[in-house]
Amino acid sequence: MTDRVFNFSPGPAVLPLSVLQQVRQNMIALPGVGCSILEISHRGAAFLDILARAKADLVELLRIPDNYRVLFLQGGSRLQFSMVPINLLRGASQPADYIVTGSWGSKALLEAKREGEVRTVWDGGSSNYDRLPPSHESFVNQEAPYLHFTSNETVQGVQFRSEPAAGQVPLVCDASSDFLSRPISVERYGLIYACAQKNAGPSGVTIVVIREDLLDRSSHQLPGYLSYRNHVQEDSLYNTPPTFGVYVVGLVTRWLLDETSGLGRMDEINRRKAKQLYDVLDNSEGFYRGHAQPACRSQMNVTFRLPSDELEQTFLRQAHERKLHNLKGHRSVGGIRASIYNAMPFEGVTMLRDFMQEFRDTH
Ligand SMILES: *Cc1c(COP(=O)(O)O)cnc(C)c1O
Repeated sequence: MTDRVFNFSPGPAVLPLSVLQQVRQNMIALPGVGCSILEISHRGAAFLDILARAKADLVELLRIPDNYRVLFLQGGSRLQFSMVPINLLRGASQPADYIVTGSWGSKALLEAKREGEVRTVWDGGSSNYDRLPPSHESFVNQEAPYLHFTSNETVQGVQFRSEPAAGQVPLVCDASSDFLSRPISVERYGLIYACAQKNAGPSGVTIVVIREDLLDRSSHQLPGYLSYRNHVQEDSLYNTPPTFGVYVVGLVTRWLLDETSGLGRMDEINRRKAKQLYDVLDNSEGFYRGHAQPACRSQMNVTFRLPSDELEQTFLRQAHERKLHNLKGHRSVGGIRASIYNAMPFEGVTMLRDFMQEFRDTH
């Protein structure tokens, strides 16, 4: 394991070492099955068991109520940008409401506009998405088919602490980059979606949690794959699901339950990890400038700038030499982005913190 680095990639991102070890150990033959997860039928008993366990673990971790269904789909969160309006907006008499807090929210909005009438109720673009709407503000049209928001903006590093007020309007959340990072009250949502490759598994599988009553909105005329109703009726086996991805998500949920004792504990650890880095920003007398307003800071993606592009290049190069990899910020924000998802070990964050302090002292 000596050649493993600390990987701060925004996604696909770091996975728990014990999960990777289990994947390696069972890659040739799953215990009791005698074939690889890559070789078995999605309709056979072995995979049905893996699917059922992954689902049951998610229900346990997130305390998902009985009137919700859990789906494992393909197409990433990008497909959800379209599937949400295709299923929930088509035929609606009022526009869907969107809160836009960063790059991903803007992309979700663009896709929804292709489907129907959409209203932007808040957009943080004028301050380059460094903040969130004030939490007391409620702007939702109570007739809207849904209100969409992005719980954590991966590029800008802004994260909601609690859900925006939606009244009776179904809340739809792109939770791609903070899914399973903390407890949430699922009953406040109509639909939650998250591609797995940030915090929950490998790319190729996307988790959707949908409230049952919303399934009635899916038109029977939709192309089969695009209908949530079909996926629920077939229990994620409408077509061949991403079997390997579901398997790894199941290992990650087990890791969360057995080795981390659930999402409350995970949240605590994530808070402590993020605080280490934000404290360096706050105590740097302006050397490090955080992108997000302090009240909106993400526990998953810590974004900041240095005094010059040149220093940022030096920072990235020297960090890389210390096995602190993939810290370059997204081009739209620039600077540095440290993605510190669940599986980033505490030790990796401490090493980055120490390096940041030292770098500032010498420059
Ligand atoms: C990564 C990401 C996406 C895009 O996911 P894909 O699986 O590439 O489609 C969407 N939303 C957020 C918040 C993300 O972090």
